Order: sequence, then structure tokens, then C-alpha cells
Amino acid sequence: MKNHLSNRINSMATSATLAMAAKARELKSEGKDIIGLSLGEPDFNIPDFIKEAAKQAVDDNYSSYSPVDGYADLKQAIANKFKRDNGLTYGLNQIVVSTGAKQSLANIAMVMLNQGDEVILPAPYWVSYSDIVKLAEGVPVEVATSIETDFKMTPEQLEKAITPKTKMIWFSSPCNPSGSVYNQEELEGLAKVLRNHPNVFVVSDEIYEHINFRGGHVSIANIEGMYERTITVNGVSKAFAMTGWRIGYIGAPEWIAKACTKFQGQITSGANAIAQRATIAALEAPVSSIKYMIDEFHKRRDLVLALLGEIEGFNLNVPEGAFYVFPDISGFFGKTLKGSVINSASDFSLYLLEHANVATVTGEAFGNPNCIRISYAASEKELREAIARIKAVL
Ligand code: PMP
Ligand code: GLU
Repeated sequence: MKNHLSNRINSMATSATLAMAAKARELKSEGKDIIGLSLGEPDFNIPDFIKEAAKQAVDDNYSSYSPVDGYADLKQAIANKFKRDNGLTYGLNQIVVSTGAKQSLANIAMVMLNQGDEVILPAPYWVSYSDIVKLAEGVPVEVATSIETDFKMTPEQLEKAITPKTKMIWFSSPCNPSGSVYNQEELEGLAKVLRNHPNVFVVSDEIYEHINFRGGHVSIANIEGMYERTITVNGVSKAFAMTGWRIGYIGAPEWIAKACTKFQGQITSGANAIAQRATIAALEAPVSSIKYMIDEFHKRRDLVLALLGEIEGFNLNVPEGAFYVFPDISGFFGKTLKGSVINSASDFSLYLLEHANVATVTGEAFGNPNCIRISYAASEKELREAIARIKAVL
């Protein structure tokens, strides 16, 4: 049959993280004993105080459309959070609440990019950045980093990547998938370059802000000359284990926030009302209320590093945040394992799925062809079993 779909969708890649999670789910339903370490999704339940707020919102009849950019008291809670955790002052007209940080990112791309505008993506980058940019007719410009620099982009690399067509740079810190965290000095270095290029905007994706084992999260918007051109993206999916509730938000210059509101007014009419009410409770709670989850991720990171470190051919950085490890497994390329030739990270990831029943994600999806991503947002028991299986089939 003729393909009647748009070129836009035909040229878009399927989200590799979601595709792998779907494949793992399918194999599980066929009775296979799959351990899913592909999806970046906390395995904790939503804290009770957030559930209570949602129940209360149902009883209080929060059933109508909310303002497109979010309830004013939620935006106030977000403004307070930006002040408390990031030292950033955003007025309510600078904040937009969306259906997950993913939609916040899509809004930004759609309101900021014209055809051919370049967006610098330090690689590895989060899987969806590249396709969101392309959807908005932008051109992703990948800047490769490697394990030797802890997968961080240097100021020299940034300078070299900037052209007259550069419109933005998008990055996450803590980084999905590498777990790398940019410190103050590193961000100062990038900001110094950017100060010489006043037309380049920054998307700072800080959704893993609280899942930081070193402590001391730094927002680039707080660095001299950056506030006016940075869009700070955050959300409640990760720190509050609220992935399915779909709430993300931005703090941005007012003109950008206004454009995002205009855009989502035609696309979604705003985020889910009940989830917005629950998010107020999440953001007003002291960060100490979620510390038990961060501590657990920290413990698991150490466990996973120790266990994977015993496998020959896994070259690991020490992730300082998020809940992923991103081992370089290129040493396996060219080898034949149980009759399967491993020529790429995708081959390797598929090999683990078929032979160890462990789902991971190929680094290719994140712009790094030498690595795979393993999420350790799983129980200690599952992690031990998964890594034992991986070791056995290698
Ligand atoms: N940014 C990064 C770096 C992520 O890992 C995720 C996780 N899906 C998102 C944005 C989107 O999060 P959500 O849409 O669930 O808020
Ligand atoms: N951010 C998570 C991940 O990277 C969730 C999946 C997604 O939103 O693509 O696995």
C-alpha cells in the first residue's frame, strides 16, 4: 500500500527507550523471564502525601480546563522551588507547566527553531532531543564526547561547533544517559564561550537535579549572562517517581514562556488538572522527603559499578547522578558470541536481550555508538540477577 503518512512522521525515529521497553513487555507477556533495564523510570511508588493531594483534588472537583500555562498556585510553587533549589528568580509569567518535560522540550523546539537552525547536542544526549529538533525543522549538530572526559563537552568543543546558524544548545545535567554532572567551573567555561555568541540560547534540562550523588546541583541560568537566554527545564517524573502523571515545566524569559503557552494552547490546552494539583504537594515538600529514593539510587549505582566492573570489556565512568550507567562496550565489536556477530552497540544490546533476557538500550540512540545504557532504576535483586546473566553470556 502507498505510504500516505507525512514525510514528517516517516522520517522520525521511534523513541528507542520506549521501543525497547515495549519489546521487553511483549517478550514478558509471551512468558519470557525478561529483566527490563531499558526504561528510565523510578521503580518506587509515588510518595503517599502526593497521592493524598491528588485524591483531594478529585474530591475538590478539579475537573475543568486549567489555565493553559498551569494553575497560578502551582506556578507559584514552581517559582518557590526555583528560588529554593536553584537560586533562580522566575515570575509567574516566566513559567509554563506542560504534559511532561518532553512536551516542554517540544514546545521550545516549535517556538524557537526555524528551518535549518542548528542545535548543538553534546553527545551522548537524551534520546528524544534529536528527533524533537528535527520535527521543528532544526538541524541537530552532535558534539561527540567520550568516556575520557566523563562524557562532558569542553568549552573548546563548544566554540568549534558554533556557526552563524547556531540557535541553541541543549543538554542535561545530571545527564541521561551518562550520569555526568557539570560542576560550577565546567558550566562557567561553557558560559564564557556563550557570552561571545549572544544569539545562542540554552536549554538546560535539569530533570535529574535531585538525583545527584555528589550534591551541589548548578543551574547554568545562574551564571553571568545566561539567565536571559536560558530555558530551564524540569519536571516531577524522576525525583518524585511520577512518570505517568506527566507534569513538566520551564522557567524562561517571558517572551519564550508566552510563545510556549500560545503553542500548547493549540495543542493540548494545558496539562492534566489533577496531576497539577498533586505537583503542588510534591514541590512544596522539603527535598528531604524524597531523600530515601536518592539514597537508594546511590547504593544501587555503587552496586552496579562494582558488579559490572568485574566483567571484562566493560569500560565505565562513574556517574554522579541520574540512574543510568553507560559502559563503553566497543571492545566486543568484531567478536562472535554464541554464533552472533557483534559489530555495533545495537548488536550487543540485542544479544543481551536474546541470550541473557536483559533489556538495555543501544548507545546509538543517544548519539554514542560505542556504549549501551543500563538503567538501575530496578530492585537490587533484579540488578544482581541481570548482571549475573550478562556476565554468564559474555
Ligand atoms: N529529559 C530527560 C533528560 C529525561 O530523561 C526525560 C525522561 N523521560 C525527560 C526529559 C522527559 O521526562 P517527562 O516527559 O517524563 O517529564
Ligand atoms: N526518560 C526515560 C528514558 O530515557 C523515559 C523514556 C522516555 O521518555 O523516552 O528512558
